[in-house]
Order: sequence, then C-alpha cells, then structure tokens
Amino acid sequence: LNYPSKLVEEAVLEIAKLPGIGKKSALRLVLHFLKSGILPTQKLTFALENLVKNTINCSVCFSIADEELCNVCSNGKRDKRIMAVVADTRDLMAIENTNQYNGVYHVLGGVISPIQGIGPSELKIEKLIERLSQDAEIKEIILALSPTMEGDTTAFYIKKRIEHLNLKISTIARGIPIGGDLEYTDEITLGRSILTRVSF
Ligand SMILES: [Zn+2]
Repeated sequence: LNYPSKLVEEAVLEIAKLPGIGKKSALRLVLHFLKSGILPTQKLTFALENLVKNTINCSVCFSIADEELCNVCSNGKRDKRIMAVVADTRDLMAIENTNQYNGVYHVLGGVISPIQGIGPSELKIEKLIERLSQDAEIKEIILALSPTMEGDTTAFYIKKRIEHLNLKISTIARGIPIGGDLEYTDEITLGRSILTRVSF
C-alpha cells in the first residue's frame, strides 16, 4: 500500500497486528478514526488501556475479573456443587450465554498441546486439584472442553488426576461436532449438551 502520510501508515501497521485484521481493514478503521474525531478515539484508547491495566484473574476460578472474585464466584445464587472446567473465558461466556448452567467454573487458560509446547504445568490444573481437595462443597465436575485432540487429551489427563477424589465426572462432548470449537457451537446445542451431559 502507498500511504498518504507517515502517521496513517504507522496507525495502519499497528492495527494490522491485531488478529484477523489485514492492512486493508486496518486502513478502513484508520480512516474511520480520522472521520470520527478525537473524542470517540480517546474513549476507545481509554477503554483499552483501562482494560489491560485493571482486569485481573479471579482468585478462585481464574476467569477475567475486575475485582478479586469474578461475577460468577461472587454470586451467592450460583450452585457451588457443580463446576465446569473450561479452556478459556470465551468458552465460559459461550456456556453462560446458553442460560442452562448455574454452577461455577474453573478456567484452565488453554488445553494441553505438545505441538505448541503447552504442558499441564502451563495450565491451571494444579490449581484445579488444589481447589477440589480443599472445597468439600464440589460434587460434580463437567469437563467442558472442545472435542478436539487437545481437548480430549486434557480431559483424560484431568480425569486421571482427580479420579481418587470420588467426584462425579461428566463431559458435554455429545452434540458438539467432533473437532468443533465450543465457542462456535450454537447456544441451543451447547445448552442441550450441558443438560444431557454424560458420565466420563
Ligand atoms: Zn471466579
């Protein structure tokens, strides 16, 4: 691309570093910012800066939180006897959006992937085991991981590690297309697969 100005070029190159955004889309956004003026642009940069500076991980479930406890963990109406183990906050949000689940979560921060060099120690698996051994309230674990090879590997690993705790272990794999992503599964299908979860 030939840029009309150095500043336009700089902005385009920065925005094009974002996932899924090429230089053409970045240019469209840059021209949009120029048109909309300083106030909306400041609001956006402030929101992003605030987000990155001030969000933390929930000290119990490791979901994204603004305070020590996330919205789910601090909610007294949630059923603390059921815990869904998810790979990341996007999957947690997908399950929340089904409105079929009232338990709590544990966010692993990814799945085991030898190809990408992610082993159990890179994930919150020890924290999960620690949490399960300390919290006598939890009776059932739903392994809500994508039915991919990495998701299955992670589920089997966790199952092995927690088997001795005598909890009910279930999985929501049924109803989700094999190799599919939780995030892209439609809400009705995902909601149904939580209700009809099967013993793992
Ligand atoms: Zn939490």
